[in-house]
Amino acid sequence: MAVMVRRVARGKDGIPTRHCDLAGCYNHTHGRKPYCTKHVFSMPYVQKLNQEIVDQEAEWDRARHRAYPVLDVGGVTAQEILMHVKLYGPRSVLRLCKDLNLERAVVEPYIKALQRKGHVRVSLNKRYVPIVHLVVHRQTRRGA
Ligand SMILES: [Zn+2]
Repeated sequence: MAVMVRRVARGKDGIPTRHCDLAGCYNHTHGRKPYCTKHVFSMPYVQKLNQEIVDQEAEWDRARHRAYPVLDVGGVTAQEILMHVKLYGPRSVLRLCKDLNLERAVVEPYIKALQRKGHVRVSLNKRYVPIVHLVVHRQTRRGA
């Protein structure tokens, strides 16, 4: 009695290899991913990440052009600035730029936008260096 053994090609990790889902591409994929490394941008998750990067760059461009009234204070960069000041305390603008690895032309408009929305206040230290402080909004309890 002959036993049929179906051989499945496996990668180095022992996981069966798979072919790219893109029509006409016969490349193998890795780690059960639907697309090969050449067509990884076809994955919805990667497309979403790519769009987020494009949107972030567009917003940084608006910041560079001093369009702070239209900056998104709920966006990634503004929230990153707020979180940093919340975690590490008042910081100078230059220190924020260094810590967050962002250019001053991008950070300053965000500070202005956050200041306009009442999330931060800026004071000058004795050397007239602007220091960014977090404004803590306390909720008032009624009827408690
Ligand atoms: Zn492919």
